[in-house]
Amino acid sequence: MNLVIFGPPGAGKGTQSKFISKKYNLHQLSTGDLLRNEIKNKTVLGSKISSLINSGELVSDSVVSDLIMSFISNEKYKNRLIFDGYPRNLSQAKNLDNLLNKNKQKIDIVLKLSVSLETIKKRILERQSQEKREDDKELIAVKRYKNYETSISPVIDYYKNSNLLRVINGEPSISEISAEISGIIEAI
Ligand code: AMP
Repeated sequence: MNLVIFGPPGAGKGTQSKFISKKYNLHQLSTGDLLRNEIKNKTVLGSKISSLINSGELVSDSVVSDLIMSFISNEKYKNRLIFDGYPRNLSQAKNLDNLLNKNKQKIDIVLKLSVSLETIKKRILERQSQEKREDDKELIAVKRYKNYETSISPVIDYYKNSNLLRVINGEPSISEISAEISGIIEAI
């Protein structure tokens, strides 16, 4: 199966994607991690995108599309991808369907983690002290949350219309959320 997971920054999509990928032998495709690796490895792309990422802006659709394309077309990952952080807007959602279609695949389920801004602020500050991400500073995190809310709302409608969307309360403990996700995955 191919799965999409999204939620605001700090919602726990990375943590839950890691859990799902281990439990069901899927591959976590985190666009945020791929982009941060470009910066860490000081690639040409990394130098172009670092200021955007550090200031909480989105990277261009074409850059992220190129990154995910190589995974979708790779037999090794066929029907075992977790899209973590993609799509972020409606044109990315349509692009993802097209890319999957061309490779005779589809999305089987979309998980949306819902978390309040108050919880997000708390979690992001905790993560800031551990991971030292530039974009986890409080003001930038709030900006990312607001940008997320605006750009994701048509994506939510898009997946609601195709009956793929499952909304998960992202407030309880990691293990409670994992249990709910497992139940949903096993039901399909
Ligand atoms: P994340 O790790 O998912 O919180 O992503 C960190 C940052 O990477 C975001 O704030 C964006 O700057 C960039 N990014 C990740 N995924 C995407 C995407 N699908 N489209 C555009 N930018 C992205």
